[in-house]
Amino acid sequence: MDAAQSPLRRLPSVNRLLRHPIMMTLVERHGHSETADVIRETLSTLRQELQSSCEIDETSIVASVLSRVEARAATQLKPLFNLTGTVLHTNFGRAVLAEEAIAAAIAAMRNPVSLEFGLDDGKRGERDDHIRALVCELTGAEDATLVNNNAAAVLLVLNTFSQNREAIVSRGELIEIGGAFRMPEIMARAGARLREVGTTNRTHPRDYEMAIGEDTGLILKVHTSNYRIEGFTAAVSARVLGKIAKAHNVPLVNDLGSGTLIDLARFGLSKEPTVREAVEEGADLVTFSGDKLLGGPQAGFIVGRKEFIATINRNPMKRALRVDKIRLAGCEATLKLYRNPERLAERLPILRCLTRSVEEIAEQARRLAPFVADAIGTDTAIEILPCQSQIGSGALPLETVPSVGLALKPRGGGRALDALGNAFRKLPRPVIGRLADSGFLLDLRCLEDEVAFLENLKSFRSGATQ
Ligand SMILES: *Cc1c(COP(=O)(O)O)cnc(C)c1O
Repeated sequence: MDAAQSPLRRLPSVNRLLRHPIMMTLVERHGHSETADVIRETLSTLRQELQSSCEIDETSIVASVLSRVEARAATQLKPLFNLTGTVLHTNFGRAVLAEEAIAAAIAAMRNPVSLEFGLDDGKRGERDDHIRALVCELTGAEDATLVNNNAAAVLLVLNTFSQNREAIVSRGELIEIGGAFRMPEIMARAGARLREVGTTNRTHPRDYEMAIGEDTGLILKVHTSNYRIEGFTAAVSARVLGKIAKAHNVPLVNDLGSGTLIDLARFGLSKEPTVREAVEEGADLVTFSGDKLLGGPQAGFIVGRKEFIATINRNPMKRALRVDKIRLAGCEATLKLYRNPERLAERLPILRCLTRSVEEIAEQARRLAPFVADAIGTDTAIEILPCQSQIGSGALPLETVPSVGLALKPRGGGRALDALGNAFRKLPRPVIGRLADSGFLLDLRCLEDEVAFLENLKSFRSGATQ
């Protein structure tokens, strides 16, 4: 082929494309350099592809640039529909915030706030001042502080009280949570020496007593959030440990993991230890997450004895682990909802989802099934089936909550199932379900915005693979 006829030479120039009316609107919206960069990138891809094919059509180049620029501008952190049946999904950012918390967070984002400033005296204040009284009121603790997450809370407590000293833990409580958080590793990073006591299935009071000595920094009790040891077992209760710790004058720390501020039994869920109970049982410090059952933003609470909290606050590491004003505002607003437990289940999304009745979800399933059937087409069977939701994030690990789902079964088995899951993930607002024996299951427990769900479904293209 001679050079004059080469398709490469017929590619329009960057400048020419920039003068195209559609490109001019793109420049208006996304800027000259972004648009020109994408044009160059698109032309370069075309140049590689053109070695074989030869048709060049300016309109298709413009369309390709348009979709690339739009794709680059779209949010990467996408809101999605969590229909996996795991209510508190760590990969989806755990708790969805209450409207009150969202409003407080927005106000804090938009304005300067009294983060570390006393409005009464005009002097410097502490960011913990905004939640201290509230947390103490809700937990019965003397004092409280807030850090980045519960992992940070545990790290900070260990570093403050057992750096170069021993932290005593039962072998039955050396937990790993989601791979990245392993108690022995956190201890090592905190500078603590792990002193394991007891065995995997049985630990007795004398095991702790025999381990306590000159080098003891603290005793750590860890809530086995994501598993249970069953059968021939023995563990030392927090109350007994509290007595042992007190008798030997060493701090007892209870890492509750999720923790909860109220007895969940009143909502028909199993009992999870409350923070107030852990404080009453004699722990000097209790740590728990803000975004698990509590239902707030990611945060780690440390509550307990005043002098211990003061010691923690003097640790320079605290500064590296502190929370920002946005999450602090969200935490304060979330905690305030607990002053009115009667309305909590309607205001706090995590509880609202967990307490929805099976009848209500079944009714929703019957309402939505025809629309979903319509979207996915006749090659996929759809059935309304009972299923089990789980709480997730290590809270109440063995408990499931009865729910109802739409089970989608495409003709053609495994690959068709994958394609179906893929098509749901490719929706403008991705819908995430789970694979079950019954097929691709959409557990409706956490589906609150039905209108948005139906609107979204209109973009469904069965078998979409891109
Ligand atoms: C979840 C959990 C943690 C870690 O909390 P994050 O808020 O995820 O940092 C620590 N300990 C226990 C027992 C947990 O369940």
